[in-house]
Amino acid sequence: MARRISIFGATGSVGQNTIALSARDAAAVEVVALTGGRNIARLAEDARRLGAAVAVTAYDALLKPLRAALAGSGVEAQAGQAALNEAAARPADWVMSAIVGAAGLEPGLRALQQGATLALANKETLVCAGALVLETARQHRAQLLPVDSEHSAVFQALVGEDIGAVERIVITASGGAFRDWPLERLKSATPQQAACHPNWDMGQRITIDSASMFNKALELIETREFFQVDPERIEVILHPESLVHALVGFSDGALMAHVGPPDMRHAIGYALNYPDRRTLPVERLDLTRVGQLTFRAPDAARYPALRLAREVMARGGLAGAVFNAAKERGLDAFIAGRIGFLDMAAVVERVLDRFDAQSGLIDAPMTLDNVLQTDHLARAWADEAMKEQAG
Ligand code: NDP
Repeated sequence: MARRISIFGATGSVGQNTIALSARDAAAVEVVALTGGRNIARLAEDARRLGAAVAVTAYDALLKPLRAALAGSGVEAQAGQAALNEAAARPADWVMSAIVGAAGLEPGLRALQQGATLALANKETLVCAGALVLETARQHRAQLLPVDSEHSAVFQALVGEDIGAVERIVITASGGAFRDWPLERLKSATPQQAACHPNWDMGQRITIDSASMFNKALELIETREFFQVDPERIEVILHPESLVHALVGFSDGALMAHVGPPDMRHAIGYALNYPDRRTLPVERLDLTRVGQLTFRAPDAARYPALRLAREVMARGGLAGAVFNAAKERGLDAFIAGRIGFLDMAAVVERVLDRFDAQSGLIDAPMTLDNVLQTDHLARAWADEAMKEQAG
């Protein structure tokens, strides 16, 4: 029987790589749902080519063009958040969560509720609602597989190991576009400059988050949630070559490293084929040509996002949802040219302070409603903070 798969965020960087890898074994795969946002042409073309049952755009206003692009194909066209959730509830064996931002949370939860294996590229899912997501997976006996390269690396290093024997987890960071810029230049950094990653080819938002290290900050929280380790056991280390993705240190002193080229097709392919390993079209590293691997501690002054992430982990509860929402609004404003590069961290910090001052919020139970309301509130607070700053 063909394996039923759905790809959320199919038109993006991770989504396109997932399609390419799944299409290598097209006869063995039945595509249930493909989803996208504004890129209707790509969504429709892939849905036709793969014979998807349904194609969904996140935007209601784009239903008409999507319908037109799919006319005569037999692929159902849908639009909007409710349609995304409905598509995620359609029975599938394997679901890729590669929507960018908190918008990926609800479809991911729906996929877990119907018992699908959820391949999680969308790191915001665990940052915003880790406990809820893990409990949902447990209740429905659904498997969660990491796709972020660092988390995939840790997951692979842990196969056959006892998590109790883990002393530390080290995730690496390239340092992003401004790794070697003098600090004072960062103030005037533009979105175009921030969107040029030295090693990885990724979507615009995650690339800018790499330059600010907000991406690594999200990954710190994601590591804590995914592997349920104490925050003080998780380290971030700068590794400009981006070849060692993560290391796991065990109680006997062994340090297991995952080494490979900076190519998302490895982590995506691993999640797609898990628990098997199949041949993947990724470069094989020649370590004699690599020659040297370098590591150094990240500069706290350059990357305030890492300190903020540690404060968020110490707060726990809904703090992750606040952190992510404020970060997303700050990033929107930076991309639109309304605030500077360094203002993003300042906005997030102000929103977290305001969150602390609201009694009761921090201890609110982690239900989907509470997470979504908190997300909404933190976005409004971020907008207010930016207005005050501008005024
Ligand atoms: P892209 O920006 O390339 O793609 C994002 C996808 O989400 C697109 O399909 C986009 O549609 C869709 N989308 C955008 N906004 C919404 C919305 N509001 N509702 C529903 N769908 C939406 O992102 P990436 O592929 O780079 O990243 C996807 C996720 O994976 C992120 O969480 C990222 O952090 C994570 N990740 C990415 C890696 C990478 O290498 N790119 C590595 C590790 C993790 P459209 O383009 O049609 O508008």
